[in-house]
Formats: sequence, C-alpha cells, structure tokens
Amino acid sequence: MIHEIFPYRFNNQFVSAKEIREEDFILYYRENTLLVKKNNEELEIPRKKDFFGYSTSIKNVFLFTLDDVSCFLIWDCPEMDNDQFIFKEINFFRTFKQKEIAWISIVGLQVMNWYLQNRYCGKCGSATKEKPDERAIICPNCNTTVFPKISPAIIVAIINNNKILLAHNANFPESWHSLVAGYVDIGESLEEAVKREVKEEVGLDVKNIRYYKSQPWPFSGSMMIGFFAEADDRQPVCPDNIEITEAAWYTRGNLPNHPPGISIAGEMIDKFEREEI
Ligand SMILES: [Zn+2]
Repeated sequence: MIHEIFPYRFNNQFVSAKEIREEDFILYYRENTLLVKKNNEELEIPRKKDFFGYSTSIKNVFLFTLDDVSCFLIWDCPEMDNDQFIFKEINFFRTFKQKEIAWISIVGLQVMNWYLQNRYCGKCGSATKEKPDERAIICPNCNTTVFPKISPAIIVAIINNNKILLAHNANFPESWHSLVAGYVDIGESLEEAVKREVKEEVGLDVKNIRYYKSQPWPFSGSMMIGFFAEADDRQPVCPDNIEITEAAWYTRGNLPNHPPGISIAGEMIDKFEREEI
C-alpha cells in the first residue's frame, strides 16, 4: 500500500522549534503541485542547501522526518535556479516509483491544507496560532484547539464463497469497479457504518464482519478502515443509483478493472483473487 515505504522510516512525531539544517527536505506546494528537483531522469525532494541564498525569513513549519532527515513545509517560494526545479501535480505521486518521496509529498500536502483551513478560529473568528509544543492550532482569544482532521471511513469487501461484490462508483473511470466504502457518521460504530453503507449503496445485509487493516489516505484526509464481510447472494443487489451506478458479484479470475495495490481496496481485492481469504 502507498504508506508502506519500508526500509524507509516515516516518523510523524512533532518536534517544536526545530532549526532547518542544510540537509533537511523542503516541501513547497503551489496549489496542488509540489516543487521537486530534477536529477537526470530522477526527481528529488529539494534540500535546504539546494536553494542559493535561502532566506531565513521564509516562514516554515516542521512536518515529520524521513529516516533521520527532517521535512519542513515552507510558505514562500525560495530563490532558485529554475532549470533545476519543476512543479509536479500531486496525483503524479500516486504511482511514483520512489515510494518514500511519494508518501511524504502527499502527507505534507494534507498537513499544509489543514494549516490553511484553520487560519481563523471556527468558533470566534480570531486569527489562530500554531501551538508550539504539539501538532495543533490554538485560538489566542478563546483557546479553542484544533488537531489535524482525520475522517474515518470504512471500506468493505463483501464475499460469498467464490464471489466478491464489486461496485462502480459514479465518480470512477468507465468500467472501473471497487469495494463499497463510506464515511463513518456521528454516533456510529465502525461495524454499524459497514452495515449502513452496504445497505444504502447496494441494498445488501452483511454478517460476519471482520477487521482487516487500516490505511491512511492523505488525498482526502481519510483513515480507511478495511473489513471483510459476508452476504447471502440470494438477496437482490440494488445500487443506490446516486453514488453507485452498478454493482454485481464477480468470481475469481473474472474480476473487472479495479484499483491497484497502492490502496487498501486494491490489496483486499488482490487477496480475494489469490484465495488468501
Ligand atoms: Zn476562538
């Protein structure tokens, strides 16, 4: 999956008031693009030393570390040799072969968007500040504290013996099928969310709900929580025709186009296909 970057180590422990060292990675985003450094055919995350005359007046915030290298988000573009650098659309990193670079790029964007969305207090409207001792934003007027927003979402592989239920979402490319998924609602357990989403989207009752794995998905700020569940195939499959436009049972060896293994959906479908569940 996209967050599995072994042997590289991603460490999100927050460190306050860290100085940027010459070797540290600099993440600068412009809209949905990231500034990267060209190195022949390869791409690199630029380090502080790659920018001539890096100005210490550029506002920055510590993000996380990759191995022992700190990653900093900066808010203004530093002076640079334009021939060496390029802005890359964030979706490019979904399939980028240097997985550790892909991962910090998309997580950094999630953190940046969280800072941008919380410049003002949602309660009293005052300008907020970064909390110096932890990854949080605080309102100096009313003390409201905001932590990074992560939205839990369930994703469920519905199985019946040699068959798996796959659905076509209205937002998917044509012929693309995947698992049923949806955000957990307030006051709801994960198991209740699984039952509700499956019923709403494809009209089935499921049983034997078993936890599989979870996956952070920074593109949408979600935490995908994967389950396998079983359903009686004599029940009618009824897509909601809003989110899901088509859903059907598929047997092993006959699966339609589906997501790749960078997502938990792809991994779960592959696991079914290989008869590992
Ligand atoms: Zn406030």
